[in-house]
Amino acid sequence: NEPKLTDAQKASHIDKIIAVMSGKGGVGKSSVTSMLAVSLMRQGYKVGILDADITGPSVPRIFGVTGRAGVSKTGILAPQSRDGIKLMSLNLMIETEDDPVILRGPLITQIVNQFYTEVVWGDLDYLLIDLPPGTGDVPITVFQSLPVDGVVMVTSPQSLANMVVRKAIKMVRNYKPPIYGLIENMAYVQCSDCNHRMEVFGKPQGKDEAERTNIPFLGELPLDPTLAQLSDAGKVEDYQSPVFDQIAKRLAEEIKK
Ligand code: ADP
Repeated sequence: NEPKLTDAQKASHIDKIIAVMSGKGGVGKSSVTSMLAVSLMRQGYKVGILDADITGPSVPRIFGVTGRAGVSKTGILAPQSRDGIKLMSLNLMIETEDDPVILRGPLITQIVNQFYTEVVWGDLDYLLIDLPPGTGDVPITVFQSLPVDGVVMVTSPQSLANMVVRKAIKMVRNYKPPIYGLIENMAYVQCSDCNHRMEVFGKPQGKDEAERTNIPFLGELPLDPTLAQLSDAGKVEDYQSPVFDQIAKRLAEEIKK
C-alpha cells in the first residue's frame, strides 16, 4: 500500500531529511538552520531548506531571496539562493513579504505537507526543515507525515534553563526519528579585540544537557553581531565561521552513523 507519488516527488531525490527544532522561539533556530545549510553546501553537499515556520517565515530574508516561486507542469519550483541552496517558504508565494499569514492549524499543516509533496526539490543530499518553535501542530505533522531521517535540536542558555528543550526532546522520542545532536547557540561572546570569551548567560549548559539526555553534542556557537547583521541584510552566505563548519562536519558524521 505505497502512497502514490506526485510528479514533483518523482522528480526529486532527497537523501536525508533533517528537521531543525527548538523548544522555544528566539534561540536562533532559523539562523542556525541557514548557516548549517551554508556550511554543508561548502563541504560539497546539495542542500535545500523547507521553511515550515509558516506564520513566521524568516529563511528567504536571511538569504536575501525575494523572487516568487515558479510553477511548472511537474510542480512548484524552489528558488535558489545566490550560492545554490534551494529554498521554499510561504514568503516566496505571497504578494508582499510583510503580509500576515492568517490561517488556522489544518491549513498551515496542509501547506507544510505540500512544500514536501508538490515542490520540485531535484537531487538533494540534505533537506533541512526549519520547524516553528515548540511542539505544536506543524512539528506533529512533519513527524507524522514526512519521512524525517533525524532531528537537530537548537538551544540557547536561557532555553536550557527553561527545560523547554527537554519537552521537545521527549516529543521527538515519541515519533522515533533519531536526534543527530544538540547545538547550543548564543553560548558566549568572543571579544574581537582581545579574544576574551564572555559567558553572558552563565556557564553554557548544552554539553551537560546533551549528556543527561543521551544526545550527541554538536557544539556551541557564539553570539556574533556579524551573523546578526549579515542575516538581517540577506547575506548569510558571506558569513565565515570555522565554528559552524566544525558543527556541520560533526552533523554530517552523525548522519552517516
Ligand atoms: P528563531 O528561529 O529561533 O526564532 P532566529 O534565527 O530568527 O531565531 O534568531 C533571532 C534573532 O537572533 C535574529 O535577529 C538573528 O539574527 C539573531 N541571532 C541568532 N543567532 C545568533 C548568533 N549566534 N549571534 C548573533 N545573533 C544571532
